[in-house]
Amino acid sequence: MSNDQVLVKVEGLKKHFDLSKGLTLKAVDGISFQIYKGETFGLVGESGCGKSTTGRMLMRLYEPTEGTITYDGQNLHSVHEGDQFLFKRKIQMIFQDPYASLNPRLTVREILTEPMEIHGLHQGKKNRMKKVDELLESVGLNRDFANRYPHEFSGGQRQRIGIARSLVLEPEFIVADEPISALDVSVQAQVVNLLKNLQKKNGLTYLFIAHDLSMVKHISDRIGVMYLGHMAEISASEELYQNPLHPYTQALLSAIPIPDPDIEDKRERIILKGELPSPIHPPSGCVFRTRCPAAMDVCAMKKPEMQEVASDHYVACHLYSKESSGDRNETMKVTIGSR
Ligand code: SF4
Repeated sequence: MSNDQVLVKVEGLKKHFDLSKGLTLKAVDGISFQIYKGETFGLVGESGCGKSTTGRMLMRLYEPTEGTITYDGQNLHSVHEGDQFLFKRKIQMIFQDPYASLNPRLTVREILTEPMEIHGLHQGKKNRMKKVDELLESVGLNRDFANRYPHEFSGGQRQRIGIARSLVLEPEFIVADEPISALDVSVQAQVVNLLKNLQKKNGLTYLFIAHDLSMVKHISDRIGVMYLGHMAEISASEELYQNPLHPYTQALLSAIPIPDPDIEDKRERIILKGELPSPIHPPSGCVFRTRCPAAMDVCAMKKPEMQEVASDHYVACHLYSKESSGDRNETMKVTIGSR
């Protein structure tokens, strides 16, 4: 993809939180990636890996400690005051908990009309009511639901209302922070399909944040895997599932059940030992080394840099750096099974 197709460019992004007693929590510690126009970039990792903090920086809810986020060529955190309102329209968010994100005292119509009033869109009561009807229909809800309150809906319906609200201002880019993890499995696929259809219809670009790789498989064009504030691997979705390189990505993939008993029985499961270390005291060198089944001496001493090992496939691991290739632990090259 060429540079003019890049919508969001994240470079050396850090978010550190100062705690009491001089301690610092390194929630995000120097990540870089880009998101192309019209694609879905999945950001995956365990809870506490920094993926939601990254999403919040893209929403400008947090100021980065270091690094830049460029949106369509403009630094997102140093936009002119007059442009800030415009960016609020262009970038919207879908939250994980649809119930907590909807004001329980407002009807669906009021929830959807409020952003129009703030931004002065669709002037006049009639136009705004028409827009609400259109939004509800676009997310597969009956227009008669407009006068109901959030508690009158199921979880899946509430997330549809959350999606409708994210579309009110006709955004270009949506940060979806675990939008399906609070939903029943049977409803998850419906919401993913809805998001895909809306993307096609409205030319949207998504950052889709999730805690496990099975959730992002069907929606993401490319995927970034995060661990303890660092980016471990980035690649096209299909390539990542077929050829995961980072030991952490391999472990995440090996945890996804395969609905074929023959393959499921034969394949090797990688069980990660230990807990996720604290981002207040991250391990030296590679932050994954305390749980990595392939860790080598160099991993404690040197932080692995992100490098392109195949076309558009990036990994930060000494197993793939030329100078460490002598140490390479071939037993780590597991085959996850076809997906
Ligand atoms: Fe494991 Fe070392 Fe690679 Fe880190 S750099 S993932 S510890 S092999």
